[in-house]
Amino acid sequence: RRGGYLIGLIGSGIGSSLSPALHEREADRLGVRYLYRLLDIDDLALPAAAIGDLLSAARLAGYDGVNVTHPGKQLVLDHLDELSPETADLGAANTVVFTGGRAIGHNTDWSGFARAVGRGLPDASLDAVVLLGAGGAGSAVAHAVLTLGAGHVRIFDLDARRGAALVEALRARFGADRVSGGRLSDGGAELAAALRSADGLVHATPTGMAAHPGLPVPVDLLRPRLWVADVVYRPLDTELVTAARERGCRVLDGGRMAVFQAADSFRLFTGIDPDEEAMMRHFDAL
Ligand code: NAD
Repeated sequence: RRGGYLIGLIGSGIGSSLSPALHEREADRLGVRYLYRLLDIDDLALPAAAIGDLLSAARLAGYDGVNVTHPGKQLVLDHLDELSPETADLGAANTVVFTGGRAIGHNTDWSGFARAVGRGLPDASLDAVVLLGAGGAGSAVAHAVLTLGAGHVRIFDLDARRGAALVEALRARFGADRVSGGRLSDGGAELAAALRSADGLVHATPTGMAAHPGLPVPVDLLRPRLWVADVVYRPLDTELVTAARERGCRVLDGGRMAVFQAADSFRLFTGIDPDEEAMMRHFDAL
């Protein structure tokens, strides 16, 4: 190794991303030289379709790898030489490693969430899980909970077609009896019924971000025996996280997923095991 790592983040509007600080601080702690640069397609005045060119440019410029975020996670697949099996299943990559002249795609959103659940909700029952949101994050966390052994996942999305597509894709991989879809067009009755008999709720819509304030489910559906995992991490204490804590639920905030996906990417880029607890503490202080 020629003395260090050069890593990029490709995405749109990523100026305030915490990834550079998370990666570089852990590398510093390990005594590894590591530069994590933002390749913001907005700042570069590029269209999303230029992601392939940006990836080639990074490779030519000697980058060891890149993380990819919105809007590139799906678009990037066409420009990769090889995909990890899960990346192919999910149809999205958030980590690209340049090695031996090849660009290899990985997805650490799902693995990060899986390990966040293992760490943050140990022994939580996964018999019946309700998932709200079937977009990029929803696909990853659904894959994670099913891989962790969830008995049944019931999926709701305002966009019924998107929800149905995810149900179909997951059934093909994990079995038809383990995944079903619910409607939201009935005013929330089906969601309420599903939550009353669920062990846990995973929330994967943008609701609760500064630009999308609010609670994604009625607060009275948050019973103490229901665990609640939110993927939203800006802010960490979303209205859902706060309400669930107040009502006595076990809660996993989106910060853990953010840290563990970063830790998994760091491991793929360097082959070095990061200290996830140290990264967690650092994240909390950011
Ligand atoms: P996306 O646009 O791909 O998907 C969001 C989905 O939610 C859409 O299908 C939309 O129809 C649905 N939706 C929106 N409001 C809804 C509602 N009230 N009820 C039901 N469905 C609703 O977005 P995404 O990339 O999946 O991101 C979702 C959130 O996850 C964002 O806040 C993002 O920041 C967060 N995220 C967090 C991490 C992490 O590491 N913690 C990783 C990825 C994404």
